[in-house]
Amino acid sequence: MTTIGIIGGGQLGRMMALAGHNLGLHFRCLEPGADSPMGQVAQQITGDYDDTEALTQLALGSDVITYEFENVPVAAAQHLAQIVPIYPPPLALEISQDRWHEKRCFQQLNIPAPAFARVNGADDLEEGIVTVGGLPAVLKTRRFGYDGKGQWVLRSQADVIAALADLHKHEVTTGFILEGFVAFQRELSILAVRGTTGELAFYPLVENQHRAGILRLSRAPAQRAPQALAEDYAQRVLTHLNYVGVLAIEFFEQDGQLIANEMAPRVHNSGHWTQDGAATSQFENHVRAIIGLPLGVTNVRGYAAMVNLIGSTPAPEKILAIPDAHLHLYGKSPRPGRKLGHVNIVAPDPATLEGRIAAVQALIDA
Ligand code: AMP
Repeated sequence: MTTIGIIGGGQLGRMMALAGHNLGLHFRCLEPGADSPMGQVAQQITGDYDDTEALTQLALGSDVITYEFENVPVAAAQHLAQIVPIYPPPLALEISQDRWHEKRCFQQLNIPAPAFARVNGADDLEEGIVTVGGLPAVLKTRRFGYDGKGQWVLRSQADVIAALADLHKHEVTTGFILEGFVAFQRELSILAVRGTTGELAFYPLVENQHRAGILRLSRAPAQRAPQALAEDYAQRVLTHLNYVGVLAIEFFEQDGQLIANEMAPRVHNSGHWTQDGAATSQFENHVRAIIGLPLGVTNVRGYAAMVNLIGSTPAPEKILAIPDAHLHLYGKSPRPGRKLGHVNIVAPDPATLEGRIAAVQALIDA
């Protein structure tokens, strides 16, 4: 009996466990909250992510450890690594937790990224603006930013003045990064997988639409997308980090070029469509990778999309009446802005896919 321990008990862990159950695997998670999405389908150890005793308990009962969010304390991951294999490697966590290290990593691997400058506080913001080539620019906290939180788009001097006032208010001890504003045409992401033997697999580039900083819609495969380039960039990161598991890299596409925005050392929201639209889901492939099984093929079944259900969920019978629409709910109570589930949609051609996406969106907006 192989048991996989997951740090975090959210929907990503839940979907990994659901995928891994088919392979006869057992799952347990470490999660502070009661009634977690993963705790509903697997064993839960209730404790904080930095609780050494709880972490040790998780490790001692597990053959391998993974995580489902990137703000796992690096010290916790390193502690676990002494007891049991932990994948992806803690170094991947350390880099992706800090936008400065992340951009430096892209730079080191010759992967194009926006111009960037380290900003410690109000005193060196003006200098940073000069370094990135002037306005517009995007100021971000180095750590703990997600779904567009901890970000300021600076288009004018008035925005700079407002940001300066905000910086004084923010007790951000880990500093900021300022990025040149990329006037991109599309946002694309790639999901890549590396196994313990170095075996690689790539999903097709996905086109993502965000609103208010939150992912709303992904379409796969992205049409006329620079797939070979994305695979080359992803492979550089995977090899450099001696990575094992699924890695997501988000890009801006500008005039056919890919500019790396960020990476996530885990399964990713823009890969949820793979559950119904690909031969092997990202969840199953992550699990296969970390326990040393051969990776599954990543081919798309026709055309696929994923629509996030945020804040509320439409009546299931209406969603399921749409042909080849698949509902995935996370067992969470509704709250504004909260990701409660998603709908995957598959179709034989792009026009049919668009019709089905519109039908799902009409139910969400109703
Ligand atoms: P992030 O949290 O870095 O993914 O940023 C959230 C969203 O803000 C992205 O999906 C983009 O739409 C936008 N954004 C972030 N960084 C930049 C940038 N350097 N230039 C233009 N838009 C950006």
